Amino acid sequence: MQKAAVLLLICLMFLQEGFAQQDYTALREVMVREQLEARDISDSSVLAVMRRIPRHEFVPEDYKDLAYNDRALPIGEGQTISQPYIVAYMTQVLGVQEGEKVLEIGTGSGYQAAILSELGGEVYTIEIVEPLGMAAKRRLKALGYRNVTLRIGDGYNGWPEVAPFDAIMVTAGAETLPQPLMEQLADGGRMVIPIGPHGGVRQLTLITRKNGKFKSEKLMAVRFVPFVRQSGKP
Ligand code: SAH
Repeated sequence: MQKAAVLLLICLMFLQEGFAQQDYTALREVMVREQLEARDISDSSVLAVMRRIPRHEFVPEDYKDLAYNDRALPIGEGQTISQPYIVAYMTQVLGVQEGEKVLEIGTGSGYQAAILSELGGEVYTIEIVEPLGMAAKRRLKALGYRNVTLRIGDGYNGWPEVAPFDAIMVTAGAETLPQPLMEQLADGGRMVIPIGPHGGVRQLTLITRKNGKFKSEKLMAVRFVPFVRQSGKP
């Protein structure tokens, strides 16, 4: 009798888990339709990966149910995972193609790295806050991402051993353009980075490099957690 009760309980737990997963899939679909397609996200590969990747696995337990809302969320250590629309927009602008070498500065939860990886990029990502970086590493491994290499450290200097990169995404707000990142951009490469004063509104900026020449284009006003240096100062 007791055995039967335990079995029933286990079955119920599995069922509940199944329902929760279905709920998340439904929430994700609504997110893609209402927050991305209804705005200006039209790149089919970006939409497909945002439909697939379980964003709720990248946020703390208490925020799972809010994972698909139209907002940024705390991920611990005073940092945030960006709003889905901003993630999609930056990804669309970067236009990563299968097999391209991609550098991300500011791993945070690892969500953006997962997206770049599912687009077929060979992803290198740097996080300055060690506990966040370690947690992201475990999470990405558990979710089966193999083409993401993560390093803990100050991303200001990029990753010279692996450079040049076809695409660079900076997901923390910088006051100025880090020179080493410019130098590590391949010819034909793209970099997307929020630039502006700390505490204020920044401009999401697209830098492109062609025939050795750099072009800079302001895309939209955004708010981002600050890009900090190893000294701990912004
Ligand atoms: N892309 C992340 C969100 C990033 S929030 C995601 O998908 O979840 C910005 C991150 O940049 C924070 O985790 C912050 O610790 C990190 N960061 C800030 N300055 C940095 C630097 N100089 N080098 C590397 N990471 C940095």
